[in-house]
Amino acid sequence: MYKRRKSANVLLNFANVDELMESLGEKLSSQFKNLEKIAVKNQAKIQKAFTKHKLSAAVFKDETGYGIDNWSRLIVDDIYATVFHGVKACVRLGFVSGTHALAVALQANLKPNDNLISLTGRLYDSLDPVIGYYKEHKASLKSLGVNYHEFNFIDKESGHDFDLSKDDLALILKDTSLVYIQKSAGYATWRKSISNQAIGRLIEMVRSLNKNCLVLVDNCYGEFVEEIEPLEVGANLIVGSLIKNPGGGLAISGGYIVGDEEIVDNCLTRITAPGIEGNQGLNFNQTRLLLQGLYLAPMVVMNAVKMAHLFALAFSELGFMVIPDPLATRYDLIQTIILNSENRLIKFCQKLQECCPVDSFIRPEPALLPGYQDKVIMAGGGFVDGSTLELSADGPLRPPYAVYLQGGLSWPHSQLVLLEMLKANFIDEFTQN
Ligand SMILES: *Cc1c(COP(=O)(O)O)cnc(C)c1O
Repeated sequence: MYKRRKSANVLLNFANVDELMESLGEKLSSQFKNLEKIAVKNQAKIQKAFTKHKLSAAVFKDETGYGIDNWSRLIVDDIYATVFHGVKACVRLGFVSGTHALAVALQANLKPNDNLISLTGRLYDSLDPVIGYYKEHKASLKSLGVNYHEFNFIDKESGHDFDLSKDDLALILKDTSLVYIQKSAGYATWRKSISNQAIGRLIEMVRSLNKNCLVLVDNCYGEFVEEIEPLEVGANLIVGSLIKNPGGGLAISGGYIVGDEEIVDNCLTRITAPGIEGNQGLNFNQTRLLLQGLYLAPMVVMNAVKMAHLFALAFSELGFMVIPDPLATRYDLIQTIILNSENRLIKFCQKLQECCPVDSFIRPEPALLPGYQDKVIMAGGGFVDGSTLELSADGPLRPPYAVYLQGGLSWPHSQLVLLEMLKANFIDEFTQN
């Protein structure tokens, strides 16, 4: 574990990025080396898929109309299926977000009286109306007669092992149709993100108790952070957003579902119509950006993870609590920094916004958003609106004033932003310890 510097009031005072990296980069060199290795492994998977499916420039120009047997759509699906080790994929610009893709995956594969179980506690906020457990909705799964229960998969310090006894789990799983595992901790501070190895152990346990139960992994923020993906450790389907990791910063919208054939077919039927399934549809001339983004994704994800390590180290040295630890192995992109003051949280986000490539002149202010109890402040000026693969931060205005920081397409830019942030006067005299 990384030991914080003992002395309080130590400000990181660097004249330029060279000095900054001389000091902080050194301490992260083994992490960075490992990230390079992971990126190479993932790049190899992607190149192999491009070669296998004979990607040619001809597919970059889309057709019009029904798109029956549309080559562009088919090749993107095939490449995703190969990269993520699924039998079939459904990659669509028409998914307005990750939440939409997750909702389709659930709605298409659950029937009335089915039991849906989360083993990683409460789902990401935006799934609340989809499930209808915390937030009622007239089209929720609950309103359709699907039962939902959640259990906390609590990772212990050492090995991300879960805290349920095998007997408890057996009882829970007896009549379960679908198990939901959320890889990223999202904006929950009570749990950590889970490695795909740990997901694999959990799935093995689930299968040993109920071999018919489907396992869905919410893979948002997890793609290409590790060398393997959840389908390689036994999941039946994975779901994610294209304006996060796999879009590589170039996809302008969309989501994906990859997994077993029948499950993905159910999703395709749901988003088109019975009889049409996956046989029609266009990529609206976005095929080049979808695949070029995928091609860049291992590098961009590596850059984003480097950003997380670097900011974690700097703010940890300043004395702030950071989750995960600066040197800890990452399983998603999110870096939490506990800022302990409303003023610091606001200033942090405003300074970050000032350093963004787009909308640097906009000053974010805390505001109430639908679905949130507290005001939230958000920063992020990227080329794709709302893309959290681009450098961005947000946090609710309530103690402990945590800021959630993620993304960073460009590693050189992330270093420059950190330098600017350290110079900013919101890092007032530090008084913890
Ligand atoms: C981002 C995310 C989602 C989906 O969010 P959208 O904003 O709808 O794309 C779902 N789960 C997790 C863990 C996420 O990080």
